[in-house]
Amino acid sequence: MKKLLITGGAGFIGSHVVRLFVEKYPDYHIFNLDTLTYAGNLENLKDIENKDNYTFIKADITDAEHMNALFAEHVFDGVIHLAAESHVDRSISDPLAFIKTNILGTVNLLNAAKTAWKDQMDQHLFYHISTDEVYGSLGETGLFTETTAYDPRSPYSSSKASSDHLVRAYHHTYGMQVVISNCSNNYGPNQFPEKLIPLSINNIKNNKPIPIYGKGENIRDWLYVLDHARAIDLIYHQGKNGETYNIGGINEWTNIDLIHKLCEVMDTKLGRAKGESAKLITFVKDRAGHDLRYAIDSSKLMNELGWEPSLQFEEGIEKTVDWYLANEEWLNNIISGDYENYYQKQYSER
Ligand code: NAD
Repeated sequence: MKKLLITGGAGFIGSHVVRLFVEKYPDYHIFNLDTLTYAGNLENLKDIENKDNYTFIKADITDAEHMNALFAEHVFDGVIHLAAESHVDRSISDPLAFIKTNILGTVNLLNAAKTAWKDQMDQHLFYHISTDEVYGSLGETGLFTETTAYDPRSPYSSSKASSDHLVRAYHHTYGMQVVISNCSNNYGPNQFPEKLIPLSINNIKNNKPIPIYGKGENIRDWLYVLDHARAIDLIYHQGKNGETYNIGGINEWTNIDLIHKLCEVMDTKLGRAKGESAKLITFVKDRAGHDLRYAIDSSKLMNELGWEPSLQFEEGIEKTVDWYLANEEWLNNIISGDYENYYQKQYSER
């Protein structure tokens, strides 16, 4: 049986990746390594936790000794590395946490893999999951390609850029087999409600203000999380050693248009009069260093590996809203005291 280590599998994207691999590959044993920060939630994997080919390991990637011991205990055929601090706003208030987890944690994994795999580097694969934010900010036109120069601007994107570089360095210096993918904004079930879409759904439902940075003119590309998980499956199995693949939804929205669309869907779902939810939109002071536009060219992944997004945004956003409305308990359970404090601090100091 092949052993695959997935880090950050209790988080938003990781939980969808873990479920996909556990269900699709009964001949793989999936080890989900996660330290369960505020963003990690094993409730996300309740439906598969008793499967024979699944094991959860509570561990912190910043603990080098623990990583070395794990790689000595298990010969992992491959690693899909998603564990990270992932929220840009938190990176602005606490950059060091991002440096520790995203840079040091990644190096700890690379070192543990390098030692464990040293005699058979060509039998193993280290796959790093990254973000399009490493490329910086675009003007009104153009797309990020795999050869766009890195130009990260937030502590979050800088830490992810740094870990991308380190993964490439282990490929060139030590001969480790690696692939990297850089994806645009994900949305869908199980996303922690500090991020734009679940935060707005939750606030609309509870008749609370929907905070929009600046004038809401920033543009992002959005991809349904299961389409990202499907791309990760393809790249893990068919991606070429040493290559990078961009993943995007060909689906650009200004934040304000996106929220208006979401308000429309919520009005229908909640039986409210048209325009009712949009009254909750509240413009707040812009995020420091807020990148204007991200847009991504996924043609390499589409042409070489045959991937394409399966869901149109209209369908994806409706599915997402349905999921959050049907899973009120999941939402209430994670809106802890810690989250409430963070939320108050984030949006009351404007
Ligand atoms: P998330 O914050 O929902 O989940 C991160 C997971 O990592 C959590 O389960 C957390 O407990 C775990 N974790 C954090 N620090 C850890 C540590 N020190 N040791 C072990 N586990 C730790 O994040 P997400 O949105 O699911 O993102 C997953 C990955 O995908 C990240 O690497 C992120 O940079 C990347 N990414 C995210 C998006 C997006 O839109 N969310 C887009 C592109 C790339």
